[in-house]
Amino acid sequence: MSQQELQYIGGARRLGSGEPLSVTAPATGEVIATGKGATAADVDAAVAAAKAAFPEWAGTTPGERSDLMHAWVRVLHERADELAAVESVNAGKPIRLAQEFDVPGTIDNTAFFAGAARHLEGKSAAEYSGDHTSSIRREPLGVIGSISPWNYPLQMAAWKILPAVAAGNTIVLKPSELTPLTSLLFAEAATAAGVPAGVINVVTGVGPVAGQALVEHPDVAMVSFTGSTVVGRQVAATAAGSVKRVHLELGGKAPFVVFDDADLEAAARGAVAGALINVGQDCTAATRAYVQRPLFDEFVGRVADLMDRVTLGPVEDPETDMGPLITRKHRDKVSGMVDRARDAGAKVVRGGRIPEHTHEGGAYYEPTLITGATQDSEIVQQEVFGPVLVVLPFDTDDEAIALANDTAYGLAASAWSTNVYRTQRASREIQAGCVWINDHIPIISEMPHGGYKASGFGKDMSAYAFDEYTNIKHVMSDITAAAHKPWHDVIFRAE
Ligand code: NDP
Repeated sequence: MSQQELQYIGGARRLGSGEPLSVTAPATGEVIATGKGATAADVDAAVAAAKAAFPEWAGTTPGERSDLMHAWVRVLHERADELAAVESVNAGKPIRLAQEFDVPGTIDNTAFFAGAARHLEGKSAAEYSGDHTSSIRREPLGVIGSISPWNYPLQMAAWKILPAVAAGNTIVLKPSELTPLTSLLFAEAATAAGVPAGVINVVTGVGPVAGQALVEHPDVAMVSFTGSTVVGRQVAATAAGSVKRVHLELGGKAPFVVFDDADLEAAARGAVAGALINVGQDCTAATRAYVQRPLFDEFVGRVADLMDRVTLGPVEDPETDMGPLITRKHRDKVSGMVDRARDAGAKVVRGGRIPEHTHEGGAYYEPTLITGATQDSEIVQQEVFGPVLVVLPFDTDDEAIALANDTAYGLAASAWSTNVYRTQRASREIQAGCVWINDHIPIISEMPHGGYKASGFGKDMSAYAFDEYTNIKHVMSDITAAAHKPWHDVIFRAE
């Protein structure tokens, strides 16, 4: 296979100058691209391109940026099939998921930020002191360094790039080196739409080399990171060395609370979809179902039935419901956690193993349903990031809320009930950046996504993301034209 240029710097593809890099298809284990990883020198070149592009891009009007982003939307529509096919192969997603979720979601996000570019908000200018006009400017920060994970490569690239460039920043994105292909296509589509070279750059390389160099770079004004809590902590610590703004979207362990008046069929279906989306490699996936005791057995039975109907298969087959995990190494991690739960006395009601017949070379794992785990066990407390749902019983509403809040994470949660007071209470008291009521997973461009607690801070998507990617400047202009201002008398009284 010929070498591919996996870096996108200053509007052109380049070969990296680091170690050889192979990109493989998780469903087959086949190598689909080979190239070289980015080194600190490549990161430096990308940051220089972004820095050079910044003054002109920051100087465009919001309307000009909006027009270019709308043109980008049109290019993405034209290339939607290619984006879906590449995302499906590179990230191991069933083609249906790529076509119906990843790509349309990304295009909608781009369209949202094309419009939002013209709606930066702030307090109205006014004479708050009486003697001055105060006004607010929202200014781009400069070069943003972004680091994204492998689970939703295209959407994560979009979530990082769009608010940053809509607000007038330029950016260097480091995708996971496992899944760089659609991030590169997304950036190229922007250039094809007329976004100037250097505004969006992509460096493909490993975290400790390319990621570290980006976070440390003196010309990077802010680091926006999506990934695990462990690496997020390291990134924040490194960024603190040069006092960079940090935006962290980290791991999750979403609770799924089913009260005894819930629509059981809706809850069971919601649990299966919420736990198995993207093979559970979703930071908001339903991972811990707490079910009030009268519904417990029926809920477990219904979820098991539905899991039996999930079809594993090749990602290009439209009949496939669930593809592989991202790598065999990750599958070993998932299966190790399930094995330890089993050894500790939990019951594996469904799955809990590598499928026998299918998919040579791919990192497949069966949909897995677990009961009988204890609240303090690893499988309940730690992120599995696989197709694993643990179901635990509860008796009182107080207990349900306490259990839902009893992990280090706080990214997303759901509550299932037909009683409005119960759902309102759950939405008030569950500590998470998103609480769904009678659903689990849907996201929407107009609304923010972000965590509480060890799930990080800062918001992706929606106009709230602009709070991350702009500096707020207060301009206070004297309107009296007086040399002697009354407040001077507090300091000195010379006539
Ligand atoms: P990791 O934290 O392992 O990696 C995330 C990114 O950080 C990758 O690009 C990685 O590069 C890079 N990285 C690794 N080490 C460093 C370093 N020292 N300095 C700078 N960058 C580094 O996460 P995964 O890729 O495994 O993704 C899964 C995680 O992402 C889960 O915990 C999941 O919950 C979380 N996530 C959170 C979301 C949210 O919105 N809160 C959304 C999606 C996922 P490399 O790949 O080369 O190691």
